Amino acid sequence: MTTITTPAVDADRYALSAGNSGIWIVCLECSGDDQIVGVLSDHRVRHTDIQTLMAEHDADRHRPAEPRCIVCAAEPVWNGPPITAPISAPTPIEGLCISCAFWVTTVKNRLALGRLLDRTATGAPVARIDGRLYTMEPAPLRGTVAMRGHGGNTFTIRYFTGKAVTGSNLWDCGEIPARWRPLLPDNAIFGREPEPQ
Ligand SMILES: [Zn+2]
Ligand SMILES: [Zn+2]
Repeated sequence: MTTITTPAVDADRYALSAGNSGIWIVCLECSGDDQIVGVLSDHRVRHTDIQTLMAEHDADRHRPAEPRCIVCAAEPVWNGPPITAPISAPTPIEGLCISCAFWVTTVKNRLALGRLLDRTATGAPVARIDGRLYTMEPAPLRGTVAMRGHGGNTFTIRYFTGKAVTGSNLWDCGEIPARWRPLLPDNAIFGREPEPQ
């Protein structure tokens, strides 16, 4: 058997052996069918072919575990990219997944001083109704093409403070996860059901 220089990929876990059908690349850390990384015809073995197969196997089976969110420990850490429309993604927060970054940002906005109604960073009213978060964004400017939340249906939000907001661009930001509820308690009810289209 010819000596083959093992590629630099993650070669420690691989073994090469020559058989009638060619060069077999075997993963020593996988079992069953998974351990056969590839078989190369011995007439055309190229270093780069072996490296490519090993790299593919590494990516499929031995991907290093993504760091997990330090808050929920369930989702991978998220770091961008910024998204602006129609609902903006939160600014990445080191060590947090996109969901926890969103809820931390929501909590921070809520606890900002000098706000009679809960509002987003851009000033849109925020409502928490039955454990869900909603924002009432301003109506799109006339003549602009923009998506409205809830198909543009009109909603009235009645805050526990007695104030009310009516608008036709209500966005549902989803259920508030249990761990964030104490910091994001309900603050309103709907004044009426959405109007039929
Ligand atoms: Zn393997
Ligand atoms: Zn998280």
